[in-house]
Amino acid sequence: MGKEKLKIAFYWAASCGGCEVAVLDINEKILDVVAAADIVFWPVAIDIKYKDVEAMPEKSIDACFFNGAIRTEENEKMAKLLRQKSKILVAFGSCANDGCVKSLANLWDKDAVFERAYLETPSTENPESVTPKTRVKVKEGELELPEIYDTVKTLPQTVDVDYTISGCPPPIPAILEMFNAFISGNLPPKGSSFLPNKSICDECPREKNDKQLSEIKRIYEIDDDGETCFWDQGVICMGPATRAGCGAQCPNVNKPCTGCGGPGPRVIDQGAAAISALASIATDPEVVKQVVDPIGTFYMYSLANSILRRKVKK
Ligand code: SF4
Ligand code: SF4
Ligand code: SF4
Repeated sequence: MGKEKLKIAFYWAASCGGCEVAVLDINEKILDVVAAADIVFWPVAIDIKYKDVEAMPEKSIDACFFNGAIRTEENEKMAKLLRQKSKILVAFGSCANDGCVKSLANLWDKDAVFERAYLETPSTENPESVTPKTRVKVKEGELELPEIYDTVKTLPQTVDVDYTISGCPPPIPAILEMFNAFISGNLPPKGSSFLPNKSICDECPREKNDKQLSEIKRIYEIDDDGETCFWDQGVICMGPATRAGCGAQCPNVNKPCTGCGGPGPRVIDQGAAAISALASIATDPEVVKQVVDPIGTFYMYSLANSILRRKVKK
């Protein structure tokens, strides 16, 4: 009798779908994955209902790759259910690990988000001012919809997680390494990231001169030479505070890193680490005031996973 196949699951919570596509970006290597493992749950591709997952024995899924943040009752319920049913739970992607751009909603509350999205945006036509409700009467009966929370959370803030792999989406070589580790059974210690233990600067070929910074510029304001570190050209780059793995993809195509890999190794708060890097080279404290959109610059991907987490609710 041949070796029993592994059972794996993929799930998306508050996700854009990019992490699901990234799984397929490993191209023909996906064939090695399906040769070694049966996919027992993957809502985007397989018609399996939540009740089917509820009926699965505890810990019967060998590994679940969970992408997306936790922003609704449904996201939280599924995180808890999949934790119960899975031997190994992996926080896959920036949304699951750090909250990603979705957690910028933590600067407001749900009512303010609804008002903006459903009532104020110029492209929205909503004459009856309808906003999401948890119960809606339709002619067929009453629909029950999941509650949307005021605060976006990460997966590790919701349930115990065994491994992480951040990125928006995670880099392909790291996804391959992750699948190889599961298929071979050669897993790193619990709590490990499948991204390398270094920062984007360690992967970046740009020359660093550690110049003092007297003026902050936006990318369109410089004539980038393609070789000098962005900080030395006056442009903020999140590379020093961000975990490697993508091969410094953005600086290599003349764009500063915006930080999607999440906090670098030994970095507790990605935004604070970048602000600290800025403070250490600024010629005077006034330089910091030139940053346009500080939260969007320093916490674009990690507000939910930061020390700040959210704006204080009054
Ligand atoms: S991490 Fe990025 S690609 Fe993945 S679901 Fe979130 S927004 Fe989409
Ligand atoms: S700060 Fe940015 S441009 Fe400079 S070395 Fe690091 S990743 Fe490269
Ligand atoms: S360079 Fe930064 S923003 Fe770009 S893919 Fe890599 S980690 Fe993400």
